[in-house]
Amino acid sequence: MIDNLALPGRLRIAMLSLHSCPLGNLGTKDTGGMSVYIREIAAELAKLGYSIDIFTRQHSPHGKRIINLSPGVRLIHLHAGETHEMVNKLELYPHITDFAKAVDDFRVKENVTYKLIFSHYWLSGATGQILSSNWKVPHAVMLHTLAAVKNQLGIGKAEPELRLQGETRVIQSSDKIIVSTENEKCNIVDLYGARSNKISVIPCGVNTNLFKPLKQVNAENFGAIKDERLILYVGRIEPLKGPGLLLDSLALMDKANDKKGRWRCLIIGGGDSSRTEIARLNKQATDLNINRRIDFPGIIPQEELVNYYNLADVLAVPSYYESFGLVALEALASGCPVVATDVGDLRNIIIPQFSGNVIGSKDKYDLAKALTGWINRKPLNYSERQAVSQSVNTLSWSNVAKKLALVFESMIIEVYEAA
Ligand code: UDP
Repeated sequence: MIDNLALPGRLRIAMLSLHSCPLGNLGTKDTGGMSVYIREIAAELAKLGYSIDIFTRQHSPHGKRIINLSPGVRLIHLHAGETHEMVNKLELYPHITDFAKAVDDFRVKENVTYKLIFSHYWLSGATGQILSSNWKVPHAVMLHTLAAVKNQLGIGKAEPELRLQGETRVIQSSDKIIVSTENEKCNIVDLYGARSNKISVIPCGVNTNLFKPLKQVNAENFGAIKDERLILYVGRIEPLKGPGLLLDSLALMDKANDKKGRWRCLIIGGGDSSRTEIARLNKQATDLNINRRIDFPGIIPQEELVNYYNLADVLAVPSYYESFGLVALEALASGCPVVATDVGDLRNIIIPQFSGNVIGSKDKYDLAKALTGWINRKPLNYSERQAVSQSVNTLSWSNVAKKLALVFESMIIEVYEAA
């Protein structure tokens, strides 16, 4: 057990998150599960005795350069490309070398040594590649989503060759690839030709101090109408996450039980960068004649999301692809059942009929049937919600960090043994 491991005093780890600041607004175009992962895992690794420096690009001209996120965790903004908020991720590609140099300059100035690099998404992976060969330290990478999988699905805009090639290089050059599901491991082996023994599967976690069943939530504070059943969608608003499929299913439900059904759906997430996509969904809802039942409240901070999960009868996860699907875990931890497509690791997490359902297809009829099942049931009471919550209580971020630390320790030891 890692608890009994003599961890060397405050080993330093450089975490790289070039394109997305972990403090960004969750639920907007490029900020979601990856930022949550980085924040939570950095805090937990620091509790285990590591010092964590997270490097991201300077995105605001007046923003603070170094922020102490939690004990032992610093967030460091360094120059890479233009300093503004909205940036197409691919525009950062030519700045990778500059970013790597800026990280190295920072290291020299601070007179510190990093024992391991943990990079996130392929752009950071490419930066990690440069730093790992300069510093002669091991490099673990987490790609979060894969271009090859996205392109195979053919939903939304195709991912460019630049990303495919970049991912392939990172997969080949890194020492370890961390994924959160067996499915993603298979994808990396099958689609990128990676050796399976360099991939570690470590499921994601949930902040159980925040996401938990609440005895009482004042529904009116959240715009709910008495006795109305509530269906939630939470996440970045993009075609791959299937909000359009959800609307098609809701239209079927509307037709089937217009008279008796008092239900509403909140599509949470989005923000300015997703304006076009939200307008498209709004039009779809209008065309389907269900706009009276649908609200788009925009992004909601996690501290408030827990109230929504507690109010909702069911969370819909209609995605075509998820590398994990954190929102499902957050809902379950809050005692809210989840109806999901068979994505991420959800089939191993959701207990059929008890904490939700996983549908085998991406079919609007199947999704409508499963959602209807949950909103026609008596709402779960507090103790039933607690039982749902307990079904995921082993998936804490501290457990994830312990598993990750074991992988990191073995990587660091391998380097010393080889030297
Ligand atoms: N999220 C949020 N507010 C929103 C929408 C999303 O805080 O309005 C958070 C949500 O709590 C979750 C993350 O964004 O932690 C989305 O992660 P997920 O793994 O579901 O999707 P990803 O963004 O990785 O595709």
